[in-house]
Amino acid sequence: MTHAVELPGWHLAYSGKVRDLYVPEGATLAEAPEMLMVASDRVSAFDRVLEPAIPGKGALLTALTRWWTDRLGLPTQLADGADDRTPEAVRGRAMLVRTLDMLPVECVVRGRVTGSGLKEYQRVGSISGVALPEGLRDGDALPEPIYTPAWKAPQGEHDENVSFERTVELVGAADADAIRDMSLSVYAMGAAIAEEAGLVLADTKFEFGRDRLTGELVLADEVLTPDSSRYWDAEALAEGRVESFDKQIVRDWLAASWDGQGEPPRLPDDVVERTSARYRELYDRLTASAG
Ligand code: ATP
Ligand code: MG
Repeated sequence: MTHAVELPGWHLAYSGKVRDLYVPEGATLAEAPEMLMVASDRVSAFDRVLEPAIPGKGALLTALTRWWTDRLGLPTQLADGADDRTPEAVRGRAMLVRTLDMLPVECVVRGRVTGSGLKEYQRVGSISGVALPEGLRDGDALPEPIYTPAWKAPQGEHDENVSFERTVELVGAADADAIRDMSLSVYAMGAAIAEEAGLVLADTKFEFGRDRLTGELVLADEVLTPDSSRYWDAEALAEGRVESFDKQIVRDWLAASWDGQGEPPRLPDDVVERTSARYRELYDRLTASAG
């Protein structure tokens, strides 16, 4: 499903690159105590939504978020009785959640140096102000996982890596400490479980929000999905190959086939199929070995 669906009784309040957010008819995102977060099958890379969609992706992202939240025993963002009140048309790829006041920080944790982190490291020797040893190469393990927050830019702007000190200015010292500590601890738990499934959790991104009634900070958004995380096959990695369980297949194909100008080209069928199969395999491996 590429386009947001019409849901009787619900109003489409926001459509991100991948998710569509609905609130009850007549309500606004700012005020509605609950919202429906629907994961589409859309895939994005380099900040662009690509065609066609990846069949089954939205359902897998949703299932994984729920599985991880349960598996790690984390406080859930789900609203009371969420499943019974989720419209039939999107069940399986939707979560009815409490609308939280989101903190404008993307809480990135990295156990490996790659992607945009590698680029920053190669330019300035650090990531988000975290100094790193010299000589790290793509995919290398860091001495220990690092927290490299980004400022969640308003719609349409690029998120920007920031120092921990900057997050203190953005959300205050207490919350900045809390989300850093929770991020590092959830990453460590997730990486250990992934390891049992023969997977390396190279990096991930969390978002936290505050419950409007209780004031509690809750891990929100998607949790340890292949859209928010890089998963690699451990065995292949030991042999020097990176086999990704995320949209790296899409990124690699696009990087090789597009110069970044104008409209990105349409993904070939085999890229779509391989990506779809990878998402499914990741889910199966995680839930089978560590259920
Ligand atoms: P894009 O992915 O297009 O760059 P985005 O990250 O804003 O933009 P999505 O990830 O598709 O778009 O949409 C999810 C949005 O919902 C995010 O802005 C996220 O911060 C927000 N969100 C996630 N969980 C909750 C929640 N429980 N309460 C309130 N907002 C939430
Ligand atoms: Mg997002």
